[in-house]
Amino acid sequence: MATGFLWHERYAWHNTGRGSGPYHADASAWNEPDVRHSENADGKRRFRNLLDVTGLLDQLVVLTPRPATVEEVCRFHTPDYVERIAAMSAMHGGDADMNVGEGVPFGKGSYEVALLAAGGTITMCDAIMDGTVANGYALTRPPGHHALADSGMGFCIFGNAAIAAHHLLAARGLSRVAIVDWDVHHGNGTQAAFYDDPRVLTISLHQDNNFPPDSGLLTETGTGDGTGTSLNVPLPPGSGNGAYEEAFRRVVVPALERFQPEFIIIASGFDASAWDPLGRQMVTPRGYGRLTRQMLDAAGAICGGRLALTHEGGYSEVLVPFCGLAVMEELSGIETEARGSMLYETGDIMGYQDLQAHQAAVIDAAAALIDGIPTP
Ligand SMILES: [Zn+2]
Repeated sequence: MATGFLWHERYAWHNTGRGSGPYHADASAWNEPDVRHSENADGKRRFRNLLDVTGLLDQLVVLTPRPATVEEVCRFHTPDYVERIAAMSAMHGGDADMNVGEGVPFGKGSYEVALLAAGGTITMCDAIMDGTVANGYALTRPPGHHALADSGMGFCIFGNAAIAAHHLLAARGLSRVAIVDWDVHHGNGTQAAFYDDPRVLTISLHQDNNFPPDSGLLTETGTGDGTGTSLNVPLPPGSGNGAYEEAFRRVVVPALERFQPEFIIIASGFDASAWDPLGRQMVTPRGYGRLTRQMLDAAGAICGGRLALTHEGGYSEVLVPFCGLAVMEELSGIETEARGSMLYETGDIMGYQDLQAHQAAVIDAAAALIDGIPTP
């Protein structure tokens, strides 16, 4: 059975305006407006385009996303928040962060795009559940893993992965879902969505104390009925393929084996890449490919191969497409001629790509938490 892929041109039309890197431009202060905000469409579009020019896209099952319904979105978000986003979007847009009013700029019509991003993730999960595809990648935008129930955060409006997990539980009859987040930033919104919920295991690997600040600590393990179902691996800056692959071998895969999910969602950010401006990690396209291999093997052994990826961050518009290509090659089992090209191999020979002792110490500490994960 083939691998699925999903993209919609409207994802690129979500307008984050002229930022100053990841911040709002401020002509009255010192934040000189750049031509674009850090979270723009380029890396995603080029990811899709690289699949096109390598010919891989022709060998995938291309799915068409549907918008999520308000009812589906409100399984996670508060109706008041959703209404406020809809109202702002219908006017001129604004900022979806209801707490600090900074960090989630959006333009007119982004409400509908955000519904299409949440719905696209649902579409991919449904296609896997229905057996239309074996596994697949929803290249959605805006991203979702920082969004909170009552506020946007960190470029994210609606929690795409969290909403899809709720859909699998509420509409598809599943009782256990796992979300693995390899974005370089902590998946705080996804974690918060299920912090006291025993049905969803959230695992986030991220750069220690990057964003949000003081979030994603080893001590955040869930509460109440959800005790043990949140797991964090806050890796030191400079972690490369060796650290990430070891963290998957020693933490992620054993945690999944213990929890026994019926479906695995990957919150896929490529901002742990060696070239990313918003992260300080060194994962390469080949590294992402090998992490994908580990997840495919785990999903095959645990949940019949049910594995959906939904796109999160990734701000190197040049390297994101190659990280994405490596993931898609692994998912589909199809190698393209781009394999072995210069950008595909970028970062592979950098020093300190191998596991370092201070990185292993964090992985040890996270591995010690696996016994606290509830079993079925
Ligand atoms: Zn990120």
